[in-house]
Amino acid sequence: MNAGTHAGSPSLQVDRVVMREIRLPLVAPFRSATGVVDARRVILLELRDADGCLAWSECVAESLPAYSPETVDTAWLAIGEWLAPRLVHGAAVHHGTVHALLGEGVRGHRMARASLEMGIWALASRRVGTPLAALIAGESHASRGHVAPRASIETGIVLGMQDSLAGLMDLARTAIADGYRRIKVKATPGQSVEMVRAMRDAIGDHPLAVDANCSYSLDDAGHVRELEALDRLGLTMIEQPLGAEDLVRHAALQRRLVTPVCLDESIVGVAAAEDMLTLQSGRMVNIKPGRVGGLAEAIAIHDRMASAGLPVWCGGMLETGIGRAYNVALAALPGFTEPSDLSPSARYWSRDVVTPEWTMDRAGRVTVPLGSPGIGVEVDAGYVDSLTVRSLVIGG
Ligand code: MG
Repeated sequence: MNAGTHAGSPSLQVDRVVMREIRLPLVAPFRSATGVVDARRVILLELRDADGCLAWSECVAESLPAYSPETVDTAWLAIGEWLAPRLVHGAAVHHGTVHALLGEGVRGHRMARASLEMGIWALASRRVGTPLAALIAGESHASRGHVAPRASIETGIVLGMQDSLAGLMDLARTAIADGYRRIKVKATPGQSVEMVRAMRDAIGDHPLAVDANCSYSLDDAGHVRELEALDRLGLTMIEQPLGAEDLVRHAALQRRLVTPVCLDESIVGVAAAEDMLTLQSGRMVNIKPGRVGGLAEAIAIHDRMASAGLPVWCGGMLETGIGRAYNVALAALPGFTEPSDLSPSARYWSRDVVTPEWTMDRAGRVTVPLGSPGIGVEVDAGYVDSLTVRSLVIGG
């Protein structure tokens, strides 16, 4: 971003960062390959500036390095040891450029960096008295600073593996009745074609997508045949079929498919999005601000995709209502034309840490909070305290 964009919005001095790790109870235990989890481990940050203004943010890192190399524990180390001290003991920062400061001499650790960067954006939005979604829209070159954020966002749902196909179909039909605009299911090699065919029988031509989370390989002829079979089933996208570093292989695959390849794990920043466009490795990006180091990079990816005429949408990382607030504010940008994964709080949590909790209307839309400065929800600090298992204070 050029410096001129930032005229009129002041820099700010962070004087304290409070880190907390909480265990937020899930509404239902979650079964994965590594066991049963009944609570999400989450790092929450509370940033304070020199004028006493406060903002909450969240790190999307998970317990295990399955989606990304980062974990709750690596992010705790990175934020506490390297990143937060640079804000608290350094000069004043600006929300549009702080990502560069957080990236100096720090390779990777994008989720850790993003948690602080996004907190700076929330502080800035409170200081200038504008909703976070409006601050974001003002910084987007695609909107040239003149496009208002959208008032609501179409929502899709991700359905996890079930014991039976019949169980999965029931969930899909319920989701459509609830208003969800797109159903996304996880694609596992060897099972996905049968599953998607059954889904088509159950839900007709309702928008349907699959996410393979890097589980296919072009070196396996069976995998290639399966992807070509999926290509004939009218999916809105096949998300991240190949490995995170496989931009060239994704380009070879995209040439063989009519269905858009959507990249998630591969797009770690705007440079990767540029490479995707140059190589034609895909035609859609799932933007998660936590994955790319924060909002400035997420906006840059949105803008680059918009100028190429290609859609983006915002995926979820099982965020609390705090992280969800940042996703909602970002997804209010005009290029987020595919449904974003912004399920209501009650789908995940027996009780969310924010009020009001996030909800979705019967038409599958989440309302963007545009009535007040900041992230648009209040954090229940007492409830957060009751869930906290460790904390660390950096600064005064
Ligand atoms: Mg994904």
